[in-house]
Amino acid sequence: MPAEAATGLVVRASDWSETSRIVTLFTREWGKIRALAKGGRRLRSNFEIAFDLLTVCRVMVIRKGHGGLDLLTEARVEQRFAILRKSLAALYVGYYLAELLAEGTQDYDPHPTLYDTAISALESLEAGRHPALVATEFELAWLREVGYSPRLDACAVCGGSVGGEDVVWSPAAGGVVCPQCRSRVLEGVRLSPGSWLWLQRLSQGEALPASLPPPCDVRQALGLAVTQVLGRRPKMLRYLDGQ
Ligand SMILES: [Zn+2]
Repeated sequence: MPAEAATGLVVRASDWSETSRIVTLFTREWGKIRALAKGGRRLRSNFEIAFDLLTVCRVMVIRKGHGGLDLLTEARVEQRFAILRKSLAALYVGYYLAELLAEGTQDYDPHPTLYDTAISALESLEAGRHPALVATEFELAWLREVGYSPRLDACAVCGGSVGGEDVVWSPAAGGVVCPQCRSRVLEGVRLSPGSWLWLQRLSQGEALPASLPPPCDVRQALGLAVTQVLGRRPKMLRYLDGQ
């Protein structure tokens, strides 16, 4: 089979043998792929440098399909993010993005919007945007792409109106719930009226101050939402939120 070209972000890399590595790339063209890079551990080879975590590279791939590993024949670095070597908070967010892309998407299931969002998220870290804000925006984008965009404007259970006092966020219901439905949800996070409004503005793509972190109750709510959809708590969340 001929090799095909793709552009992707390295979301995982592990040693396979003395000289080879297995690389997981989230590509713009095909979504997540796992491929063997023969000779990928040779010291200082361009091939190896391209497979550093969170590097964007242009690759040539021979696709195997049916659970077999693809084969990487060429790789060229397209973009790296210097902030990840300078700021631990930014690096944690980068690792979190990689975890959601590696664990929270299927092989060969293309999500070009999610790919573009991931690259913009890394670029915005580079531009000094608050890391926790970048993480929150990416969580919303990931939830939307995998089909679990949270309901924020009305009750996620009955569609009734929500508001006034504190709002309860239910990860199981998939959004905020009204006072009547509150007793039916097992686990919930209380969002203050300000946090609820903040989250609605963020999800509508409104420009929010780049240097301010999200409210704590919003971080907690989205952490639970991602955990619910992923089926387990992402490893990187405790580094992000210290929980
Ligand atoms: Zn309700």
